[in-house]
Order: sequence, then C-alpha cells, then structure tokens
Amino acid sequence: MQTQPTASHFINGAYVEDKSGEDIRVVYPATGEVIATLHAATPAIIEQALASARAAQKEWAKWTGTERGRVLRRASEIMRERNHDLSVLETYDTGKPYQETSVVDATSGADALEYFGGLAAAITGEHIQLGDDFVYTRREPLGLCVGIGAWNYPTQIACWKAAPALACGNAMVFKPSETTPLCALKVAEIMIEAGAPAGVYNVIQGYGAVGASLITDPRVDKVSLTGSVPTGRKVYAAAAEGIRHVTMELGGKSPLVIFDDANLENAVSGAILGNFYSSGQVCSNGTRVFVQSGIKEAFLTRLTERLKGVKMGDPQDPKVNFGPMVSERQRDIVEGFIAKGKQEGARLVTGGNRVDLPGFYLEPTVFADVTDDMTIATDEIFGPVMSVLSFETEEEVLSRANATDFGLAAGVFTADLTRAHRMAAGFEAGTCYINTYNDAPVEAPFGGSKQSGVGRENSKAAIEHYSQIKGVYVRMGDLEAPF
Ligand code: NDP
Repeated sequence: MQTQPTASHFINGAYVEDKSGEDIRVVYPATGEVIATLHAATPAIIEQALASARAAQKEWAKWTGTERGRVLRRASEIMRERNHDLSVLETYDTGKPYQETSVVDATSGADALEYFGGLAAAITGEHIQLGDDFVYTRREPLGLCVGIGAWNYPTQIACWKAAPALACGNAMVFKPSETTPLCALKVAEIMIEAGAPAGVYNVIQGYGAVGASLITDPRVDKVSLTGSVPTGRKVYAAAAEGIRHVTMELGGKSPLVIFDDANLENAVSGAILGNFYSSGQVCSNGTRVFVQSGIKEAFLTRLTERLKGVKMGDPQDPKVNFGPMVSERQRDIVEGFIAKGKQEGARLVTGGNRVDLPGFYLEPTVFADVTDDMTIATDEIFGPVMSVLSFETEEEVLSRANATDFGLAAGVFTADLTRAHRMAAGFEAGTCYINTYNDAPVEAPFGGSKQSGVGRENSKAAIEHYSQIKGVYVRMGDLEAPF
C-alpha cells in the first residue's frame, strides 16, 4: 500500500518511531489480514509530543488569524487533491466502502479545514463602552489541546478537532483509536506540507492508557474526546482533576420518528441512512425507529425490498456499498446484541447473520415488534441493527423518544410542518433532523445533550470550545479609593 504512513508517530514535524512501545496490529476488516504494525507511545514519545506542542503553541498563537487560516485552507486543498489516496487508506483503516470514503471522509475533513481556515481571521474580541471607561475582550487560545478519537471516522475526527483548535491558536496532540491509527498521521503530514510550524499538530498512537496519561499532564489545557459514554465518564473525571476544558462527543441511541403522513420512500431512505451507512457504526444513528402503527407493515415491506440493493464485497470496489464491521471484536459485540434481540422476543424481519466472505461482515439486520425495555432498544449497538417500534400518538412517541439517558440526535418524518417543528422543539437531543437524517455539514453545530456529550463541534460554536475570553478594564480618569 503506497499511501501508508512510514512510522507510528508524527511529532514536531516528522515521523518518529520507538519500537519498544507495545505492538498495535492494524487489521484490514475486509480480509482479517494484518496490514501494518505500529507501536504504542512510550513515556519518552509522550514527553516529546507534549513538549513540542507546548513550545510550538506559543509561536503559533502570535501568528495573525489570516496567516493561520491560510495554512488550514492550504491543508484543505491538499486533502482534496489527494482524496483518492486518502480514501483508499481510510477504507483500509476502517473497512468502510470506497463508495463512502471517497465522498465523506477526507472531503469532510477538508471542509472543516476550509471552514475554520476561513473563520480564523474573524475570531475577535469585543468592545464594551462604560461611560468614558471601557472594557475590551481578547479571544485567546486555550493552549495545548489533547484530542482522542474513536475508530469510525478517523480522518474526519482528526480534522474536526484540529481545524478549530489550530484556527484559535492552540496546538494539539492527537491520539487516534488503536483500531484505526493510520489516517490521522496523513493529516499531520499534510499540515506540515501546508506550512504549519513543526509541533503545532502531533499524532501519537496508543491504547486507552496513552490517552489517560495525556489527559492528566499539567501542560494540557483541554481534552476533546470522541468515544463511548463509559470512556467519556473516565476522561471527563480525569480532566476535572486539573479543571481542564472538555469537549465530549459520546454515544447515542437516537429516535427516528415516522408519522403515517410521511413520504414513505423518503422515510425508508432516512432509516437506511440512519442505520446502515458505515455498516451502522455512526454515533448519531437513529436506531430506535418509531413507526406510526397505520404504516408500519408498509414501511417494513418497502424497507426489506430496498435492502435487496445492498452490495457487499471488496470495499475498495466502488460498486460495493456495504462494508464489514471494523473489527472481529466489534462483530462479536453486535452479534451478541442480535442474539439478545431474538431471546427477548423481537421479530427478526431480515438479516442477523454473518456473511460468507473473509473479514468481519454482518448482514443489515431489522427487528420489528421491539418494545422500549428490550436491550436492543436501550443500548447503543454500533452496528447494522435497526429496531422498529410502533406508536399511536404524537404525545406518546415524544415521551418514549426522550426516555433515555442519551441525547445525541433525533429525527422526524412527517408532511405536517407544524408538527415537525413541535417535535424538534420537544426532542431532548443536540442535533435534530426533519425529513432527513444524519447530515453533518461543517456549518452546523454537532454534538449531544444529556449523557451524549458536552460542547459542540463544527460551526461557529466550536470556536467557543477552543478559546477563552479575557476581559480588560480600562479606566480613562482618576481612580478614587476609600483611604
Ligand atoms: P471508546 O470509548 O472505546 O474509545 C474512544 C477513544 O478513547 C479511543 O481512542 C480509546 O483508545 C480512548 N480511551 C479509552 N479509554 C480511555 C481512557 N481511560 N482515557 C483516555 N482515553 C481512553 O470508543 P470507540 O473507539 O469504541 O468508538 C465508538 C464510540 O464512539 C461509540 O460510543 C460512538 O457512539 C462514539 N462516537 C461518538 C461520536 C460523536 O461525535 N458523538 C462520533 C463517533 C463515535 P483505545 O481505542 O486505544 O482504547
């Protein structure tokens, strides 16, 4: 594979190796073959990364926003020029089909670099007049940010964190998931090519313990995690010890509500996009599909027909539209949920089996007659398993949709405009969809409420989470004191 990174870590502008670190075997999910062996960061590597980021940040923050933005926009252009190679690598890293990676991963990473590159020059403070006196605010970087990523969108996650962090004048040490360690290294290479000073964006590999030791280092000012709720709880608690800023992009079990007046074809498309894209390994997926009882059977019939269009096989083949699970472990976890669904009495409509292919494939799976208390309706599965539940009234479905500790996303399909907006207002979720599902443009905020997260990525809102304001009071006249 020509596009492979040449060493495990990227620190201070160059690839670095330390073979004494624990082995990280990168497995191509479509074949089960080991395609690379990397090494987890040793304490010496962690030290190099933190020291280089700390030193680089001080200089980077002195650049003007226009200058920083120019680097990010150049990085975005390089990513677009290399979209093919980056997409091939993303497919090797994750197993997601090239048909997806070529239009979603490097391209959405490039969008983030372009958007925050454009915004960098417009990050300003404000002026507050107080009679003759005044206050001005300075919007300052936080300093050294640590990013920790999940395995489902390795290029996108690396860029969604790097772009706003760097635009605001921070430096970053990023640790990808050990399941998909390759793509973030290419992002680091591109940053340097685009003109970023060495040390501003570093990537080091490792299992959870490496992430844990980064979070508690006294030089670290902010931690941004994309991962599960249990990991989020640990990372948030560790960051709290040093009163560090956090962004938590965590898991979900989002509701997708389909009323009987909805356009059936669009609703089926929404349910497919919200359950089977990336083989279901998407945090915001609408995995609890509530269908109004009048159209439930029509919905299931049309969905089953549409699923005949699934094409599995070599994910590098652009005609393939459905890939394997990211790892054997993830396939086993998802199979465990499918067994639980059957055992607890849900009706298996389609799928549920492994596929006769090398690699970790599972069929797209639909359960109907799911009830709110079944495990497949309460737990995040992170695989291609849709649970269909039925409902009668708007009031009932809203209360059932919100009866969860998660609050990442929610969607509604209906032809009734006022009902759609009532539902969006009533959903306890950070990201809502009306007659669509799972769009994530960089211009719009993305993130969760309740236990699905803290903070927002993308949009102008992300600037709030990678900068802080300082108020400066200026007195123009004499100053009185009581004595
Ligand atoms: P995990 O929570 O298992 O891991 C996330 C990252 O945290 C990994 O890099 C992991 O390293 C690291 N980590 C694990 N333990 C610790 C620790 N104690 N301290 C510091 N870092 C640690 O998530 P997955 O990788 O399995 O990804 C799936 C999860 O991510 C799902 O819950 C999904 O919903 C969520 N997600 C959320 C998104 C959002 O934007 N809201 C988007 C994408 C996914 P290692 O892998 O080496 O253990």
